[in-house]
Order: sequence, then structure tokens, then C-alpha cells
Amino acid sequence: MLYLTAPDRLFELFPDEPRYRTDQLTEWLYDHPVLSSDDMLNLPRSMRAGIAEQHWPFTLEIEQSADAGLTKKWLFRCTDGSPIESVLMGYATRTTLCISSQVGCAMGCTFCATGQFGFDRHLDAGEIVAQVAYANAYLAATPLPRSPERVTNVVFMGMGEPLANYDATIESIRRMIELMGISARSITVSTVGLVPGMRKLLEEPWPINLAVSLHSTIPEERTKLVPINKRYPIHDVVAAAKDYFDVKGRRVSLEWTLIAGENDSDEEAIGLAQIARKIHAHVNVIALNPTPLSHDVPPSRDHIRRFIGTLKREGANVTLRDTRGQDIDAACGQLRLRSK
Ligand code: SAH
Ligand code: SF4
Repeated sequence: MLYLTAPDRLFELFPDEPRYRTDQLTEWLYDHPVLSSDDMLNLPRSMRAGIAEQHWPFTLEIEQSADAGLTKKWLFRCTDGSPIESVLMGYATRTTLCISSQVGCAMGCTFCATGQFGFDRHLDAGEIVAQVAYANAYLAATPLPRSPERVTNVVFMGMGEPLANYDATIESIRRMIELMGISARSITVSTVGLVPGMRKLLEEPWPINLAVSLHSTIPEERTKLVPINKRYPIHDVVAAAKDYFDVKGRRVSLEWTLIAGENDSDEEAIGLAQIARKIHAHVNVIALNPTPLSHDVPPSRDHIRRFIGTLKREGANVTLRDTRGQDIDAACGQLRLRSK
């Protein structure tokens, strides 16, 4: 499998070809990905035929389109049957791909479809980066309306907890930056708050963005929504986020999935604003996308407005994230539930 092989070992797959052929192949895989190896025009026909079998580590099983063609959601199937979900979103100045880092997730957040499903396995670095390559190959053939024709931004907000699959996540990021020309400043790792992983990320050479899924500032409530809070309490998570900003100079985002009657009180808004001010973070609020296995619902539109208003009044820098692709179950893990 080509993407599962480290780029500097690709030559081992084609022992009879000269080295410059694997350099050309590396360009086709990472720099100018194509959906079919037939389009790798400067490679000999015999090599192209050999590549066809090994080209993608998955096949596309479902494609859904929403928001007048500006959102595409894909469900890929790996050779072992594992599902991978990615969502492509076009905007005027950027094309963002939301990718998965694991099949399922072990963190068990109650409101999350992926968490409800449990953990299956880690994705390999190649399976992570192949999602970006697939999107670039797709965009080269079918650009989204009025959006950049390459992936400009990558967010690890699909299935899985990237910092629980640390080495593969980092290797995939390395390939995105060094081989695909994606700027580190346009890559965002989202974590539920795995403190050791956050601290390791501090040591990495790139100024990538960190998003921390907070969801509550009240310890008992956070433990209820995000059980890993018992192991890595909010206080330590916030301290690690502050260090990330202090060391990297990158503003951390605090993610907050707003759930009616759970984390939408004035007290929560005031606590969240205090933390955001203290660590110079940006708050991203997203209304809950209801999942089939939970009775949780998002607050009313008025209540969401009130929560945002309180945050702003308390001095927080806040964005209400648009819920792209709601009509196609774009919240992580949901397409997979439907396909089962
Ligand atoms: N495991 C990482 C990254 C994947 S989840 C993390 O938790 O940060 C990416 C984001 O989607 C998280 O902020 C998570 O809280 C949010 N999310 C999960 N389920 C959701 C749902 N049903 N509705 C809205 N947001 C959800
Ligand atoms: Fe895992 Fe993130 Fe879902 Fe929590 S919200 S279960 S950490 S994917």
C-alpha cells in the first residue's frame, strides 16, 4: 500500500525501477495526487499497472453533498473493513478538510456518535494523510464552487482522538507540511485534553494550531460529558493549553458543544470566558448535532444567542461555528452509524 509506506521507503516496492521513478511517484502521491494511477502520465505503463492495486489504502463507499455543493462528506472503507470519515468544506478563501485519526474513539464522550461506538483501532499515518491526498485528487478533477482548488486547511475533528494516536498523527502532519505544501499554521489538532500529548506537541517543530474540547468548566459536569476529565482534570488541561500559547505563540481554541440543560448556563458562560481571557484563547461554540444513541438536544436559538452574549459581555473572543452539512449527518461518526 503506497500511502502506508514511508515516502523514503517507496523504492522498496519497485525494486526494478530506478530511484528517480520513486521520486516521480512521491510527487504523484503527495504533491499532485490523482484519483487513478492511469493519470500518472510520466510513469511507465507497467509501473502504473502495479500501482493501481496499491494506490489507495481505502475505497470510497459513500459520498454525500450538502450546502449547495460546498460540503462533501465521504465514508471510506479500509481493506480490513474499517470505516473512515472525512468532510470537505469550501469557503471563499479556504478549502478545509476535516479528517479522522482513529476508527472509533475510546474516550466515550456521551454526546458524540464516535464515542458512543467505542474504539476499534488506530489509523496508520498513511491512512490519515491519504484522506488529504484523496481530497486534493478529487478537487483537481471537481473543484468546489468558488473555493481554492486544493486543501488549504486541515482539522483533526473527524473520528478519533488524535493525541491518543500520537506518532501516526505527527507523521501524517509531517508529510502534509513537507510533501503536500500545507502550512503548519493551517493545521489544527483537536483534543479532548490528553495532557501528556499536549505537552509532547509543545516539543514538535511546527506552529500547528491546538483546539481543546472543553465543554464544561465545572469538574463534575465535565466528567459526566467527557469521562477522561477524571484522569486529566480541567485545571491541568487549561494549564497545558496556556503553555502551548506561551511557547508557540499560537492562540488556542476552546471547543464547546452546547447541549440544552447540560452546559448552557450563565455560570458556565462566565467560567468559560474567564478561562479564555486568562489563556488568550478563542472560543468556538457549536450547537449539538443530535446523535441517535442519546436524548441530548441543542438549546433553542434564543438560548444559544444568550450564551454567546454572556461570553462576549465577559470579554471572551467567540465564534458560533456553522454546522456545515447538518442535513447529511456531518457530525463525526454519524455517517458510519447510518451505513451499518
Ligand atoms: N477527539 C477530538 C477530535 C474529534 S471530535 C476532540 O474531542 O476534540 C471534534 C469535535 O467535535 C469536538 O470538539 C467534539 O466535541 C465535537 N463533537 C462531537 N460530537 C458532536 C456532536 N454530536 N455535535 C456537535 N459537536 C460534536
Ligand atoms: Fe472521542 Fe472527541 Fe468524540 Fe470525545 S468528542 S468521544 S474525544 S472523538
